[in-house]
Amino acid sequence: MTSSAESTSACTTRKEATDSKNPAVSDDDDIEPSAAGRLEELKQREYELSRLLAEVRREKLSALRSKPLSIGVIGFGRFGQFIARTFQKYGRVVVTSRSDYTEIASSMGVKYVPLADPKQFLEEDLDVIVVAVSILSFERTIANLMPHLDKYLEEKHIEQNIDKIRGPLFVDVLSVKEHARQVMLKLLPSECDILCAHPMFGPDSGKNGWRGLNFVYEKTRIDGVVLNTDESKEYKSSEEFIDEAGIKHSIHEDSDSHVEALDRIERFLSIWEEEGCRMIAMSCKDHDSYAANSQFVTHLMGRILGEQGLSNTPIDTTGFQSVLKLVDTTTADSFDLFYGLYKYNQNSMNTIQKLQLAMESVVEDLKREEIARGAS
Ligand code: NAP
Repeated sequence: MTSSAESTSACTTRKEATDSKNPAVSDDDDIEPSAAGRLEELKQREYELSRLLAEVRREKLSALRSKPLSIGVIGFGRFGQFIARTFQKYGRVVVTSRSDYTEIASSMGVKYVPLADPKQFLEEDLDVIVVAVSILSFERTIANLMPHLDKYLEEKHIEQNIDKIRGPLFVDVLSVKEHARQVMLKLLPSECDILCAHPMFGPDSGKNGWRGLNFVYEKTRIDGVVLNTDESKEYKSSEEFIDEAGIKHSIHEDSDSHVEALDRIERFLSIWEEEGCRMIAMSCKDHDSYAANSQFVTHLMGRILGEQGLSNTPIDTTGFQSVLKLVDTTTADSFDLFYGLYKYNQNSMNTIQKLQLAMESVVEDLKREEIARGAS
């Protein structure tokens, strides 16, 4: 065992050896603040930073409120109603849907326009159009809107008599992202910016607020520049991205038009931030790969267990109550949504196959064990 005197002397020797190699080390450097003093200093810094953060948040909110967005929602079903209720706190909201939702809309304080009258919807001069229709009807809905959107932009062009006009920012909230990205890039004119988004929650999980819930997004097209998702795998939030020609773009680009486009996207994203969402910038491709092994498998298990006809027993464990909750929440969503998750995420079939193999493998384990125990 080393005595305390020996260890002190060993420390001194090491220190002397270091100091002799570094003549710049003065006696003053040996004086370290006491742990208590250091803690006090860190607490002071922590307080300063949180004060600064609160100030920035206040300024952000006032910037958002100073220029409220007018937001259109296409598809006023279960999810469309859920998000429109919150949008309404931040700006003017106009909704449109195939079914007649006049009463629900007016009880919520938002304007309803029938989907059969796209002209009237577009003439609301919306900053943002959020498409919240089913995955299955998404392409058709956008395609049906196209001739009206082209006409609207043409009239705006003539009316404003400027070279470059800006169409509304299109945002989709589909639970599959590659499909939404491809459809919007294929159909929407370059005057319209594109944001692909997936709030990873819904009317059940978000019924008590959105704090801490994940919001995934990809800024797909800004001011005519398209994000190249292969090149931008590492792309983080708003700092920069690479376009299809391999050119790097920054949020600080020297173009009023680009800055205006980004400002509008940021205003829209700020709504989700203000509601407390955990903002995750991610390519549509990566989203779909993760979602197949998380969201789709959750829906799949919920549907399979629901199919088995499980219900409460007088002796439920908390584990079983969680299983029943899973069945309830997944079957509360439409079958269209479930089918859309399967049909339009190329990774879903692989998830089903893995689940089938896993089921067989677990049953095999049980059979093997039974044989082994029977033999002993
Ligand atoms: P859904 O069954 O996926 O979609 C229902 C909506 O689609 C309704 O607004 C409905 O309009 C519209 N619709 C269906 N078929 C249509 C057609 N042929 N033409 C035009 N509109 C049509 O259920 P949802 O839960 O409301 O989901 C809406 C979207 O949000 C989906 O893309 C889904 O992936 C996404 N999303 C849902 C959740 C969720 O928790 N539910 C979470 C995140 C994202 P009408 O009601 O007027 O018929």
